[in-house]
Amino acid sequence: MTSERTPFPRRARALTVEDYVIGILQSNRTILARAITMIESNAPHHREISEKILQGILPHSGKSIRIGITGVPGVGKSTFIEAFGCKICDLGHKLAVLAIDPSSRIHGGSILGDKTRMEKLSTHPSAFIRPSPAGGQLGGVAQKTRETIYLCEAAGFDVIFVETVGVGQSETTVRSMVDFFLLLLLAGGGDELQGMKKGIFEMADAVAITKADGDNIHRAELARVEYAAAIHGLEPTTPGWSIPFLTCSSMTGEGLDRIWKIIEHFHKETEASSYFRQRRERQRVDWMRGLVEELLLQHFYNHPEIASRLATAEKEVAEGSASAIVTARELVAAFLAK
Ligand code: GDP
Repeated sequence: MTSERTPFPRRARALTVEDYVIGILQSNRTILARAITMIESNAPHHREISEKILQGILPHSGKSIRIGITGVPGVGKSTFIEAFGCKICDLGHKLAVLAIDPSSRIHGGSILGDKTRMEKLSTHPSAFIRPSPAGGQLGGVAQKTRETIYLCEAAGFDVIFVETVGVGQSETTVRSMVDFFLLLLLAGGGDELQGMKKGIFEMADAVAITKADGDNIHRAELARVEYAAAIHGLEPTTPGWSIPFLTCSSMTGEGLDRIWKIIEHFHKETEASSYFRQRRERQRVDWMRGLVEELLLQHFYNHPEIASRLATAEKEVAEGSASAIVTARELVAAFLAK
């Protein structure tokens, strides 16, 4: 087997699709990283190659547990991933940490999945950390992350984390590509719960109150009980599963073993009930639908008729001299006519 450190064909040489597929299956990280870059590229010829790579590795993907992790900035996500991730690697697993960060679109850089925030984990031989792809709409970024999951699985990573920040639509997006969804919360009064979207609880398979250490232990325990009571009776996202409410500390490590045990238990239970398989089947269909939408949009905007009319149409709609509704219908009709 190729060593992970082997400098596989120099950067200058373009890899063939076969080089990529073999490299990924041999767990060559350099090649895995290059394949992910290819997936993240918006250039049409890169897309052509990445689709072929995906076709090649897909039969070897799927053998992992995909775990979504969310929480507001400051809740302790990166500290948690560092501590929890090292624990999982020490148990003999291979862990890939990916991220979806909607703000990276605005700032042009990623704040999540950042190696500098996870110093220990990023040097762990069993861990692979990749920051959020930047650029494009959330939907497009999500497609890339979904495809990156498959690549990582084919490269032998059997635990995948997808980290996201607890704002906007990104949790729903991450929920739609993982098997297990962990919500991290800060200890706080009931006030916080008032302001929180209850919908987020409907997506969670487990809730953990972070920073349960030192003076904060008592507050964390109180918050745990309050949150559990507040959402009592809520329909769980995974049928037959009751959402555990826990406390943990990434500083002391307290509670981390328990979370891993819960995830393992969840994996076993949902596999036995076939829900694991059913969810993945649905997610594959979601992936296909996302691709259909992307392809249609590409065709639409590249269509010569649309390309020649779009600028004027947008200007007229902006000025109010044309109706958005009528113009949208006219453009789609023009696209379908030819
Ligand atoms: P993120 O924005 O959600 O990724 O949060 P970070 O992991 O960057 O953590 C935010 C702050 O909380 C940092 O100052 C951490 O040192 C601190 N923190 C994170 N986890 C813990 C913990 O378990 N205990 C304590 N006491 N502090 C923590």
